[in-house]
Amino acid sequence: NAIIRTEKLSKVYDRGFRTVALQEVNLQIPRGSLACIMGPSGHGKSTLLHLLGGLDRPSSGKVWLDEVELTSVAADRLAEIRARKIGFVFQFFNLLPVLTSLENVQVAMMLAGVSKKEQQERAAELLNLVGLGDKLRARPNQLSGGQRQRVAIARALANDPEILLMDEPSGNLDSRAEQELLEQIGQVNDQGKTVVIVTHSESVAAMAQHRIYIRDGQLMGNMDTTGENR
Ligand code: ADP
Ligand code: ADP
Repeated sequence: NAIIRTEKLSKVYDRGFRTVALQEVNLQIPRGSLACIMGPSGHGKSTLLHLLGGLDRPSSGKVWLDEVELTSVAADRLAEIRARKIGFVFQFFNLLPVLTSLENVQVAMMLAGVSKKEQQERAAELLNLVGLGDKLRARPNQLSGGQRQRVAIARALANDPEILLMDEPSGNLDSRAEQELLEQIGQVNDQGKTVVIVTHSESVAAMAQHRIYIRDGQLMGNMDTTGENR
């Protein structure tokens, strides 16, 4: 019943010196769960998230998304799986500054072969859903941090992914914006999507049904908290 599974997943960066960022991590994330990845800074959490989403290749070991083992598929197929199945929200949002909210969300749909008109309609619908119906024509620099984060979430949901991966989404938000973010995340999860969040936030961790602890690139714990929090 795991939607994501890893086997001895390892990553070594070699840029003049070797950094073992991740060491033989075995984990499973149940379908439809809200999971968080926690641990000290610089210990391999982002690396793990990137490998789970097929944004980077492991040095050794394997990642399965459903029945597909990511290291065995070619780059173009991997890009297709990523676009169709996975939505990413990065810490610094990665919005394109010259584009409006609407256009930033539309961009995500361009590769999927959706018509321009459908792109616009769906982008507007998603932005309404995250409470930005009145900011469709605003550019990122005209939005608050919390609002940019919501554009990034709308963009991540554009292709109706099964999995939403978030890298410290509340890292740059004040507490009110964080609270709103938690509500958004809860809604997305309630729709049946699997959500995996790298976080230092206790409030995010408190919502999670599944907690993964990483230290020194190793799995310290992979805990199902169902019943404890829900
Ligand atoms: P965390 O997300 O827990 O802060 P990271 O996964 O970003 O940790 O980093 C784990 C280790 O790998 C750190 O020592 C970091 O410096 C190193 N690292 C991360 N990305 C790269 C990269 N692209 N090139 C070289 N080293 C990297
Ligand atoms: P949030 O609760 O979403 O973080 P804020 O209370 O920070 O929102 O912002 C309130 C209003 O001020 C919003 O409508 C937003 O568009 C506007 N705003 C916030 N930051 C900026 C900015 N740097 N430039 C222009 N408008 C801003």
